[in-house]
Amino acid sequence: MNLIDGKATAAAIKQEIACEVKAIVDGGGKRPHLAAVLVGHDGGSETYVKNKVIACEACGFKSSLIRFEDTVSEAELLECVDRLNKDDDVDGFIIQLPLPAHIDEQKIIEAIDYRKDVDGFHPVNVGRMAIGLPCFISATPLGILTLLRRYNIETSGKKCVILGRSNIVGKPMAQLMMQKQYGDSTVTVCHSRSKTLKEECREADIIIAAIGRPDFVTADMVKEGAVVIDVGTTRVPDATRKSGFRLNGDVKFDEVAPLCSYITPVPGGVGPMTICSLMKNTLAAGKKEYYK
Ligand code: NAP
Repeated sequence: MNLIDGKATAAAIKQEIACEVKAIVDGGGKRPHLAAVLVGHDGGSETYVKNKVIACEACGFKSSLIRFEDTVSEAELLECVDRLNKDDDVDGFIIQLPLPAHIDEQKIIEAIDYRKDVDGFHPVNVGRMAIGLPCFISATPLGILTLLRRYNIETSGKKCVILGRSNIVGKPMAQLMMQKQYGDSTVTVCHSRSKTLKEECREADIIIAAIGRPDFVTADMVKEGAVVIDVGTTRVPDATRKSGFRLNGDVKFDEVAPLCSYITPVPGGVGPMTICSLMKNTLAAGKKEYYK
């Protein structure tokens, strides 16, 4: 069994990005600038945004954080999006999700200028990704693809089963694993209504689990030699931790790992790669790589 080290891979990529940023700035170019908008004080969102700001520093980016209380109105948030769209100094920005229930998330996402949509959630980026055109690819699927590539894991012609069909992980992951220029795999997507989920998993060369159900994937669902990518990060109460919780993946790691050729741990697998992919997208935005 080989452990896929997302933390080390992400650190190496951030180092590569920092070198490129230094070369750009030394050559008189503009330092890429990522802005993040955070609404409210949700613990998970606070942590994600804090880690994004730290990653920006490691990459040599300029970063700015715009905060709103969770009483912010939809109109105020749309105004902020409009300001960021028009701000020439900002190369890319993200609106940390989820947003409070009184705000229409999709409306906010669609208001973002797709040329600055480094999360890759805008329909223009989603559509371009689906037909294989250059675009911002959403960070978690891009991070997983990068891990598979960096570990030289063969995906072409393999049977890949994806658990979960969310807009931010399952669906884009399925699109990318299917496409010739990325995964080139035969893809099956399973969700909460799938009747043959276990059987599908048992036949899979690659399982990508993104459902948010701790320890869902057990040894009896995994064939010998499979590659298992665990996207799940559920906060499970844990009195032994200072924080009072630990992050639990969708895979029952102890019993599944011995069967696998490769497996990602939680934490330290997909998580660090997600932030690293956001950095890659920000660099691309700064270089106007996809859109002028
Ligand atoms: P989501 O929007 O809640 O979607 C969950 C998906 O899993 C849905 O498609 C749902 O099916 C399916 N599902 C739920 N229970 C199931 C079951 N018992 N059997 C089969 N399918 C089931 O979740 P998400 O945003 O994609 O996130 C999934 C997990 O990944 C979460 O733990 C999240 O925290 C984590 N995550 C981690 C990262 C990272 O960077 N590591 C990034 C994003 C997400 P239906 O469509 O039928 O409801």
